[in-house]
Amino acid sequence: MMRRIAAWVTLLLLLPGTARAEWHAREAAIMGTRIAVEVWHEDPAVAAAAIDEVIAEMHRIDELMSHYKPESQLSRVNREAAAAAVPVDLELADLIVRALAFSEMTGGAFDISYASVGYLYEYRERRRPTAAQIAAALPSVNWHLVVVDRHASTVRFGLPGMRIDLGGIAKGHAVDRGIAILRGRGITHGSVTAGGDSRILGDRRGRPWIVGIRHPDDGDRVIARIPLEDAAISTSGDYERFFDEDGVRYHHIINPRTGTSASGVRSVTVIGPEAILTDGLSTSLFVLGPERGLALIEGRDDVDAVIVRDDGKVFYSKGLAPP
Ligand code: ADP
Ligand code: MG
Repeated sequence: MMRRIAAWVTLLLLLPGTARAEWHAREAAIMGTRIAVEVWHEDPAVAAAAIDEVIAEMHRIDELMSHYKPESQLSRVNREAAAAAVPVDLELADLIVRALAFSEMTGGAFDISYASVGYLYEYRERRRPTAAQIAAALPSVNWHLVVVDRHASTVRFGLPGMRIDLGGIAKGHAVDRGIAILRGRGITHGSVTAGGDSRILGDRRGRPWIVGIRHPDDGDRVIARIPLEDAAISTSGDYERFFDEDGVRYHHIINPRTGTSASGVRSVTVIGPEAILTDGLSTSLFVLGPERGLALIEGRDDVDAVIVRDDGKVFYSKGLAPP
């Protein structure tokens, strides 16, 4: 008997393709956030190579679009686009075009030029602009003044002092790119996460993935669990980057009309087919609030949302409403 088992063990070790079929996972810190990639594949070498490529892609996107990196194309745009049209990779031009479409869709609640005032906030140092500084910068928060020439692949600003930041959709884009890479390598079950943005490929081998929405004040408490397959999910919360002062929470989602942190909502989760869509919409709904936000969601047939209002009331779109 012992010998039979030993023979089996040897056989299993010699056949890694079937015997070690399993989930492979890795985490990394990129784009200022936690990246997680999980993949199911029979061959651990295929899984590892796929994960490597996803991680490399995240680094590539970060190099292109980070506003923390002075040499990124985005930083160059912010320095020079008020003076002249700045040439950029088509990928960046297209992402900015996509961001402008979100502005159009949300009546300006989503606006990458929010950064014209947004950069005056330093959450770690608990620094915020004065009312006069906000008033001076606010005219530069205007997505109509961000001009992309797709043909020439350039970006130009209409006013000096303008800045853009892609933090509201870049992670969603990166997650979509990650899923495209996994698919391209023949992977049919996996997930890619960048901070609050995740996308799931396939199911968890026979059952759905279960994604939890955390309580805004307690990362260990879950307010809802959502079963998902082949879907993206993004959460925006006021607990990601913030400081509190005199009972007011100053956080990283800015209402472009006021130049101050959006109020009235604690968190927004959006579920849909692509992470760039759910990412852009979660940030947008945070600014729009429950009423206008849910109206936007119900007007489309490809997305659902869960909104936690500041009084704790939870709103579900029709597709998710508990019976
Ligand atoms: P995160 O996962 O970083 O919390 P969110 O999807 O919640 O991202 O979006 C927040 C980010 O979006 C901010 O850090 C900032 O980069 C950007 N942002 C903030 N306000 C707006 C806005 N009104 N329109 C577009 N982008 C915004
Ligand atoms: Mg977002």
